[in-house]
Amino acid sequence: MDQLIALPVSGDAFLLRRADRVILVDGGRSSAVLSRELTKYGVDRLDVVICTHADHDHAGGLVDLLDRSGITVREFWLPGAWAESLPMLLQKPVVVVDDLIQTLDKKVPYFPFDADPDEFEERMLSYVRSQRTEYRNAERLADRYAPRSADEQGNRDGNQEHFVPIDGQKYAGQGGDKLPVSRSGGDAAAKAFRNGRGRIRYRVAKKKISKPVASFWSGMIDTAERIHQIAAQAMRHGVKVRWFDFGEFAKTGHSGGGDRGFLIPLNAVELATPPPPPVGLSFLVRLTPLNEECLVFLSPSCKPHWREPSILFTGDSPLGQGKNYSVSWLRWPMGVSRDVIATAPHHGAETNLAAYSHLNSQARVMLWVRSGGNAGHPGPTYRDIDPSLRICTNCPHAKKPRQAAEIHLLKRPIWYPMRTHGHSCSC
Ligand SMILES: [Zn+2]
Ligand SMILES: [Zn+2]
Repeated sequence: MDQLIALPVSGDAFLLRRADRVILVDGGRSSAVLSRELTKYGVDRLDVVICTHADHDHAGGLVDLLDRSGITVREFWLPGAWAESLPMLLQKPVVVVDDLIQTLDKKVPYFPFDADPDEFEERMLSYVRSQRTEYRNAERLADRYAPRSADEQGNRDGNQEHFVPIDGQKYAGQGGDKLPVSRSGGDAAAKAFRNGRGRIRYRVAKKKISKPVASFWSGMIDTAERIHQIAAQAMRHGVKVRWFDFGEFAKTGHSGGGDRGFLIPLNAVELATPPPPPVGLSFLVRLTPLNEECLVFLSPSCKPHWREPSILFTGDSPLGQGKNYSVSWLRWPMGVSRDVIATAPHHGAETNLAAYSHLNSQARVMLWVRSGGNAGHPGPTYRDIDPSLRICTNCPHAKKPRQAAEIHLLKRPIWYPMRTHGHSCSC
């Protein structure tokens, strides 16, 4: 029997059992909590583990899941943008930390101490957004108008000299075993990240930067460390890694890859080889997670006449772009059931309100599944949805304790019933 379970963790972690395969989409904040929940559900093997983006409440639980739980994983599906930074993160984390601190010293010394932390964060995110967009547009022009030299072609086609610096081994995303990361390498990395946090604290003590600035920058170091840990773990355990790149999708509007009929990306392209490091972009710009670049995956049902639901994992995505994310990029794949069970975008946060109309214009949502978020979530748009159409691991407004939300999909033709177990949502 097919089953979707929103695990009662802090953050997002969704378990899907479908067609004899088990997939996990995101891991919440803590590997300890995640592995306890997975054990409770009898999971000892995961066919696919997806990380939609590097935010703590999605990626934190994946950093040492394998070391801790004994669960075996066949494949990790990770954001392509990470791959651009991984060679450096794995081999010389000190360089990444230095770059982050240099950007801090260059970018924010004059930022007023009494400024609002949210305003600072918004300012940094829009800086990152504009830098990445500019880079992508420039790359697109170069692709179109300037024939690449044979050398650059080589880099594109996987002969990536600067991308395979470790023992001359090819790092092409096929298998973790291709890129050995030693224990001492892990210790050196932990030390580099610790050192970075220390340098930020020093700047606070010397009153060079304010606390909101420091916490944003420490968050960046944490993000870099999570990405390092997830990748290094996959490699240590010999787990195959597949890369899904939002940037490629942003250029063309076409998504591709994944496993047809089982699990496909809607806003990313699977890469045969990881993209080369973007020249001239700081690690701040490369690594900062932006919600609009969060990966979105669909487990499609190809039996629309049965009304068998497709399952949509929205992560923190607004399903759109531009001002207030009002331009939808959602293109429903041909032949796929438009009856949908969808996870609540960004834990139901009002920042993602555009996602509801984007999805409703292309599909019929039979059930929204919400988890994670904070006491300020969810927002009015989510709370306006008919309560019979939502299920929640916790309803902060109603102060409900965390509990798994289970959806059992019962196979019957013509109309596709489901049985749910958990809090009916009273957010
Ligand atoms: Zn989130
Ligand atoms: Zn709720």
